[in-house]
Amino acid sequence: MYRKTIFSILMAICVVVFAACTTATPTTVASSDSNPVVTVPTAASVSETSTLSPTAEISSNDSSSTNLACGNGSTSASTTLEVTEGPYFTANSPERASLLEDGMPGTKLVVTGYVYDTHCQPVANALLDFWQADANGVYDNSGYTLRGHQFTDANGFYTLTTVVPGLYTGRTEHIHVKVQAPNSKLITSQLFFPGITENDGDRIFDQSLLLSIQQTSDGLQGEFNFVVPTS
Ligand code: FE
Repeated sequence: MYRKTIFSILMAICVVVFAACTTATPTTVASSDSNPVVTVPTAASVSETSTLSPTAEISSNDSSSTNLACGNGSTSASTTLEVTEGPYFTANSPERASLLEDGMPGTKLVVTGYVYDTHCQPVANALLDFWQADANGVYDNSGYTLRGHQFTDANGFYTLTTVVPGLYTGRTEHIHVKVQAPNSKLITSQLFFPGITENDGDRIFDQSLLLSIQQTSDGLQGEFNFVVPTS
């Protein structure tokens, strides 16, 4: 009798445990199903962050052109390298900071920067005269398309709005410029773009004349600081 009672109790315990196991199983499956659902977006967002490698490339572009003259608290700098004027300069360009015109083909480019003296002091009212080929690599030699001069403000700052110049035979992408502090020697130079294959084969190209370039939703943003003699 006593044994029968114990047996009955054990059977009852087994029934309860079995019931608990069978009801727990679907709950576990459901939760393990829902786990991947939660994990998938997490994994997706991780892979989005891993697509930050292009950002890393952009920042490496930045660092390749962090040779902004007079940057990082420098108190002295060499004057901007002078290179050939080339055959397409036209005197008396109009005074304007934007060379963009309606319907002009090409990628918009905004270049900003400062003009400094060799002690890294900003030069106000310095002349900057820019000229360049259009997006197809063609100069306007009868008019003033993509030609213009301007003067730095009181902080030595300038802004040029234009388009990315196209390639033409024998040359990589470049923008011509003449820079001059008031009553001082005029410097003739050119600005170049990082990551252009043709830079390697261009005899005028020089690393020190590379723009610092960033891609924006509105084209390219470039930076370059000039250093000019002031006597
Ligand atoms: Fe040119």
